[in-house]
Amino acid sequence: MRALRIVAGVLVLSLAGCGVVPAPSEPGRSAGPTATATDTVTRSLRDVERYWKAEFPALTGGKRFRPITGGFHPYTERKPAPDCAGEATVYQPNAFYCPDGDFIAWDAQKLIPQLQQDYGPLLVGVVMAHEYGHAIQVRLGRTRQPTVVLEQQADCYAGAWLADVRAGHSTAFRKPTSGQLDNTVAGLLMLRDQPGTSARAQGAHGNAFDRIRAFQEGIQQGAKKCAGYDANNLQVTEVPFSDAREAESGGDLPYDKAITLLAQDAQAYWTRTFPDLADRQWQPVRVETFDGRAPSCADPDTTAGGAALYCRSGDFIAFDGQNLGPQLYDRIGDFAVGMLLGDLFARAAQDRRGASTSGRSGQLAVDCLAGSWTNDLLTRDQNGNDLRLSPGDLDEAVAALLAFGRGRDNGGVSAFDRISAYRKGVLEGLGICV
Ligand SMILES: [Zn+2]
Repeated sequence: MRALRIVAGVLVLSLAGCGVVPAPSEPGRSAGPTATATDTVTRSLRDVERYWKAEFPALTGGKRFRPITGGFHPYTERKPAPDCAGEATVYQPNAFYCPDGDFIAWDAQKLIPQLQQDYGPLLVGVVMAHEYGHAIQVRLGRTRQPTVVLEQQADCYAGAWLADVRAGHSTAFRKPTSGQLDNTVAGLLMLRDQPGTSARAQGAHGNAFDRIRAFQEGIQQGAKKCAGYDANNLQVTEVPFSDAREAESGGDLPYDKAITLLAQDAQAYWTRTFPDLADRQWQPVRVETFDGRAPSCADPDTTAGGAALYCRSGDFIAFDGQNLGPQLYDRIGDFAVGMLLGDLFARAAQDRRGASTSGRSGQLAVDCLAGSWTNDLLTRDQNGNDLRLSPGDLDEAVAALLAFGRGRDNGGVSAFDRISAYRKGVLEGLGICV
């Protein structure tokens, strides 16, 4: 039996002027365990045990919960974790559960202090709740599943614990603010598989899109939903690169080509589907870019911190082609630009059908409509010369939503809720949005 563990990816997310995630500190800076991170871990694990003590009997028809017997072990390069299944553990910036010794071990030197510093203590709690979720799988006798299922189930269990925290039951955390939730989701994005990993690969954990879905499902539907996950009912969007050339480019089109093809595709999508929404034809919407200063418009409907807009009276969409577009492309990837265009076209569609794009419900409707276009990209016949999604694209959309969602122009809607609305459109298509 091998150790189940989370693997830290390397995605540096920051978008100037949008108040996004701070870049992770340089590796190696924070040597030595910090008392605060260790304290957060201990408090979190105690609280996760409190949660399972109450939840486990409900999940199993009354069986008593047996807490972890092998303890919680911080490790560093100098002081390694205990052996797992008779094998010495090699230092890695990780956290893991060892089924053989029934213990949880975590990197007290780099990973956990860094996660706490960059994303806040709540993410540390979620990581520990995830690891504890693997101990729950052992207790439920549910470990004979593909790794990707086990990992997403553990994410879902972490979400179920967080729902309990949000309900005010935790002894370790106060009810999280939406900013703290957004930080936690941003942290999960860091802990995703590298794009292009096949969901069937040994050790695959899932892309961020799928992992965040599992996490939010746990929050919204509880541990019972998580316990029902198996290989037959779990929707997995993670795909490998189709060939070596795609892998080499990271699946990204050149910037100018990406803008042109994505805008054309969105136009074609809405031409096809808009008559179902509004009982009339879609007139092509003009797409403009500007350099720093937005074009004049009497009634702009702005997004992405004001760097992009749909102009209702002028009936055009525009974005900052000097800063915003290239930054999204360079720092996140081509589908972050796709997310921006998806958002702008969705604003146009929502407005043209006479519905609101403002306030919480308007914003979430826009995100769902943007997701419906992604659904079309994801589900269309892949044989033609059409655009199609590459591995990592859905994660880029999530990263872009985190970047936009933390602006102050969205009626106070959290990125957490925006991602949830977007995913609804992605997984179920246009029908679910209206
Ligand atoms: Zn795991």
